[in-house]
Amino acid sequence: MPSRFALRGRALHRRLATAFALLVAVLASCTHHDKPQRIVVISLDTLRYDALAAMPLLRARAPKARVFERHYAATSCTQPTHATLLTGLAPWQHGVSRNGLVLGDDVETLAERLQKAGWSTSAVVASIPLARVFGFAQGFDHYRDAFEKKMAFRTWDGVDVGDKPFYSLGVHVADEAVAALDEASGEHQFFFFHLFDAHAPYGDTGGDMKELWSPARILAELKKGADAPSSIRDARAAYDRDVTAMDGAVERVLARLERDAEKYDTHIVILADHGESFGEGGVLSHGSRITEEQIHVPLILLSPRVQPGVEKRAVGTLDVAATLAALAGLPPLPSGGRDLTAATIPPGAVFGMRRTYAEPYNDSRSDGKVDVISGEDFYVVEGADVFTGDAKTVRKNDVEGSELDGEHAAKVGRLFATFAEALSSRANNAVTDEATREALRALGYTDS
Ligand SMILES: [Zn+2]
Repeated sequence: MPSRFALRGRALHRRLATAFALLVAVLASCTHHDKPQRIVVISLDTLRYDALAAMPLLRARAPKARVFERHYAATSCTQPTHATLLTGLAPWQHGVSRNGLVLGDDVETLAERLQKAGWSTSAVVASIPLARVFGFAQGFDHYRDAFEKKMAFRTWDGVDVGDKPFYSLGVHVADEAVAALDEASGEHQFFFFHLFDAHAPYGDTGGDMKELWSPARILAELKKGADAPSSIRDARAAYDRDVTAMDGAVERVLARLERDAEKYDTHIVILADHGESFGEGGVLSHGSRITEEQIHVPLILLSPRVQPGVEKRAVGTLDVAATLAALAGLPPLPSGGRDLTAATIPPGAVFGMRRTYAEPYNDSRSDGKVDVISGEDFYVVEGADVFTGDAKTVRKNDVEGSELDGEHAAKVGRLFATFAEALSSRANNAVTDEATREALRALGYTDS
């Protein structure tokens, strides 16, 4: 016979269980329906994956985040990757295949879709490549693109930037981002914040300004007879110092968002548009290649909808765009992409391209040689491998002499030919999109 105490205990337990279930239901309904929402994208320009080591504050938040170990940028160049992130179109579809081009009015951006769906939209950007003149402000209610610092050159990718300020440091962006958060109102708020500290010149976030480094300075030191490894080491150390300074700026924004955690369901996406080479394979800087150092970049999701942990499946910028649309409850994007908040990320290809060049480009190497770069180069990540090339030549993991032949190389070559065709017929955007989708389906790269 159970004692009266045990019976009472069981009844109490049942009542407690019912009350707990009710509480869970109420909390769940608050989480999914009642709370206003914030979606915040923080783009850290030029942050290669291993530079997370110089971001202790962000790493301290990793236990609450989903960290994507294999996130590949759509290109190794600022404007094309950001155009993909902000439109959900591949770089051969949105018409911004290199810096200096304008994102056309015919392209519907994510911010425009969000605006139409009643979201408030606000951006703070940190450098000329994302200035409104290049079409990136489409769909934003507020677009802060006033910069504070000058670069040491007048022309940038064929565009005369005169002696106007070219970029802002993270401390400035954090101020503006906090102001944007303070000013925002409405049930649905979208923010895009862009920080530029990791980009050359390296070492400009503080300390001795004579110790500024850049790919151009590494090459100049080489010409003077300096030892390449030690110049590259000094440049990398200055880059890492800038990354650590940027870490502080990002933390200020995250801390500000945390203050409103009770008020908003907040979904934060932190990523980079491309990485940076420091002499690996004789390569410096970014933009001209598809290499591990230039396209493998951080991606971190902080959201009540994601399970914290480490994701090992390869994902790309198109998947991030699709995730933003899914978080906002928008219809899926025309170019596909996976919702990365899913508990299990479905398999899928990741693809992108090198930027295009209007004319052959002499890319200086850290061994003093010059590579002439022309034409197009695409990539697709399959399992552990990255295949790069064009319709005729497919290489594995960008290793010289790794040209493949056989059925698989032919299949990848056909895919790259489709991308090249889409790129050249970009004027007819709608048709190109459908043709690209059809080709991807036919090749087994996408299901839908
Ligand atoms: Zn960039």
